Order: sequence, then C-alpha cells, then structure tokens
Amino acid sequence: MGHLIPLTELAKQLVHHHNFSITLILPTIGPPSMAMKSVLDRLPETITCILLSPVNLDDQPKDAKGETRISIAMVRSLPYLREELKRVISSKRVAAFVIDLFGTDAFDLAKEFGIRPYIFFPCNANVLQLLLNLSSLHQSYSGAFKDLPQPLCLPGCVPIPGTEILPPLQDKKDDAYMWILHHARRYSLAEGILVNTFVDLESSVLEVLQQGIPTIYPVGPITSSSSIGKGFDDASGCLQWLDNQPLESVLYVSFGSFGFLSYEQMIELAYGLEISGQRFLWVVKCPAAATIDASLSKQMRTDPFHFLPDGYLNRIHGSGFLVPSWAPQIQILNHGSTGGFLSHCGWNSTLESIVCGKPMITWPLYAEQRMNAVMLVEDIGVAVRPKPDENGLIGREEISRVVKILMGGGGEGKSLRDKTRQLKEGAASVVSEDGSSNISFLEVVDKWKQLSS
Ligand code: UDP
Repeated sequence: MGHLIPLTELAKQLVHHHNFSITLILPTIGPPSMAMKSVLDRLPETITCILLSPVNLDDQPKDAKGETRISIAMVRSLPYLREELKRVISSKRVAAFVIDLFGTDAFDLAKEFGIRPYIFFPCNANVLQLLLNLSSLHQSYSGAFKDLPQPLCLPGCVPIPGTEILPPLQDKKDDAYMWILHHARRYSLAEGILVNTFVDLESSVLEVLQQGIPTIYPVGPITSSSSIGKGFDDASGCLQWLDNQPLESVLYVSFGSFGFLSYEQMIELAYGLEISGQRFLWVVKCPAAATIDASLSKQMRTDPFHFLPDGYLNRIHGSGFLVPSWAPQIQILNHGSTGGFLSHCGWNSTLESIVCGKPMITWPLYAEQRMNAVMLVEDIGVAVRPKPDENGLIGREEISRVVKILMGGGGEGKSLRDKTRQLKEGAASVVSEDGSSNISFLEVVDKWKQLSS
C-alpha cells in the first residue's frame, strides 16, 4: 500500500493537472486485498489499471522477505508486462515508463521498446542515498552493518548507527539483501528518480543528490487527499467518536499495512496506553502469527480484540477507541481532536503526519522505518522514541512515559508540536505555485510533454 498509494496520487496529478493519459500496470500474486481494491476502484476513468495475471511464489520459502517476494513477482511478471506494453505502445505515444523501486528488471523492457524509464521512489532521500551507495559499501565493507563501529555518514545524510540500517540489508546472505543490491545497482539506468520528499525535510542530502546522476526530482509530499476506502470510511464510527473529543487530545496509534507486534508487545502497548491516562484511537491488528497460540480457533486467531487484556474494552471505554485492522488514516490525522501519532514510521504515514501537523512517537518495525525514526527524532525534531529493554520489548511504563511527553503540556511536547507546525507550513508551501517540489515536478512533466509531442 505504501508504494501503490503515492504512485496513484502521482498518476492523478498527471491526469488532472497535465492532461496525461496513464496506464497503471500491476504485477500480482493473487486477488487484490480489500484496501488495494478500494484504491483502484476509485481511480478516475482517465487512469487505466491493468492487473497482470498472478504469478506463483509457492516455491519460495515461507520466511522469504517481502523484498524478495516483490522482486521475484516482478521478474516472473515480465512476460505479461511485455504483452501489455506492446498493446499500450501500439495505440499511444509513451512519454515515460515510471517504475517502482523494486521493479528495475522492467528496465530491460524499456530498452527493448525504446521508452524512457524513470523510478518513483516512495521513501526518503536519505534512504535513496544509502541505496545509491550500496554497491560501493558492499565492496568496501564485508561485515554486517549492525557491527559498524561508527554511525554510517554518507554525504548529506543524517549519521545512521549500523543497527538502524534496514533489516533486509543486515544479512548479506539473505536473498533480500541481494535483491536490494541488484535494484540499487540498476538505479543509474533510470533517466530520473522522482522522490517523495521535500527540501525542508532533507535539504543537505537533496543538494548532494541533485549534483549527481541520475537526475533527482524531489516532488513530495505526495499524500492521499482522502482516506483509502471512502466506502468503508467510518464503519467503526471512529471519526464520529473523534468529533466528540477535545481539541488535539487524542493519540492515534497505527502500524501501517504490514506492522504486526508480538503478542507480548501488544499487551504492553495496551497497558501503556491505558496507564498514560491520555485519550487514544488504536488500529488494533492481530499479533504476529508466530506469537499466536496455534491451538486457537480460526475465529479467535483472526479477531484482533481477542488478544487484548481481560476487561480492557470496559476499562478504556470513554478514553480509548479501538478500530480493528484498518482505519481512515488521513481523516483521522486531519481531525482537530487528533494531537499526535504513534506510528511504525512508514514513509507515507510519516509524510501524512507532517502534512497534517501531528508530532509523532516512533515505533519502527520493518523496511527502512528505523532510518526514518532516527531522522525524525535526531535530525528533524518532530518525534520522540521509546526505549526498548534489553530483550527488545518496549514496556508499559516506557510507553506511558513517551505518550505523556507527546500529549502532555510539558516543554518537550510543546517543542515537538512547534517544530511539526513549522514543517506543516513548509509542506504546504513546497507544493504551491512557486514551491520547490512543484518546480521540480513541472520540470519532469515538461520533459515528458516534449517526449510525447
Ligand atoms: N493506511 C490507512 N489505514 C490504516 C493503515 C494505513 O489508510 O489503518 C494508509 C496510510 O494512510 C498510508 C498507507 O496506508 O497511506 C501506509 O503506508 P506507509 O508507507 O505508512 O506504511 P506501509 O504500510 O507501506 O508500511
């Protein structure tokens, strides 16, 4: 979802403001999820969406990482993609072929058909800089990043302790590492990379990147203007509940589309939120499968509320509101009663929080989220991060402590709120007529217009 949502928003901008016609081609491994369908069903008619025939990944080990599965799905979809591209090219003049960050194998097709490949990079520029340097880091450093004696200092980037580098890059023997390296090495084949970030967030690394090749276009923040799934928007009644809460009093808690806590961690979070005494709206998901008692019935295993402490719903009634699985995030973040966001730091969630002016508690789980957390806390100053204990568990007292910092009236919370407000203004100004992201966007759009005329 974190790749699909900003990509479709980019497509909408190209259609609505620049008269392009867009064909969105998606590899699949099965029927689309509800959330995915709700995004695709709401695309304007000027965007044609083609779901490629599903490819089979049954031969992959159960523990194959997401990056591996996505990359293999892409490679196996290439024959279907070739057929679709042939069809598009026979009826339209193609200005550009915009590829996802894990889709670089499609560059070969771009070459075959003589069309120009671009990448849409849905993460930030610090992560892009890491990937653009990955090949040389791979050659110069044979150990695991987590064992680096000093934080990694790449040109223009926030120094990153080795332990915070994305988990799939921590094990050089894992296929996911090899796939990311494979893609990163091919980024230089792109004509340009559109990055979902903006200058107020990452001025120094953008300055460095914009002096190199390929051309970098910071076009963000591209966020969804309305929540995914208008139809089942407020099925839970959470927006109505928010309407009745005091201004900026509610902490929104969500771990994105793939964020699952262990059972033990979920319990600590439940108690931590409760004892903080603050209002909260929590999108509750079932705990990670490996931590669920296998003897439970299917119904129990798929009901997230089943895993909450005994009597929890009654105790939090009035101050807490729980939504199972998926909530209308944009509306929640935009709501005046929401005062902060406890987030897994997916880049879209991060941008959405900034655009809506809500400070954050960082709780990174997977992909590049730890790097995002470091940036938000150490560099940008819009977030606070709880400290895990020696076993990696974030205890209830610690959770309560950071919730009180963020939502309470103290100086630290105020400074996070002030900084977030400033960034919110910056985010609005960069996409205005003379704003840096708009200028960058128009630059690439002009190029594409010339190529298609
Ligand atoms: N999202 C949502 N409701 C939810 C969880 C997520 O609408 O309950 C949306 C969220 O607004 C964001 C996207 O799904 O646009 C998640 O993207 P992100 O990059 O934050 O994380 P990912 O889920 O891809 O790790």
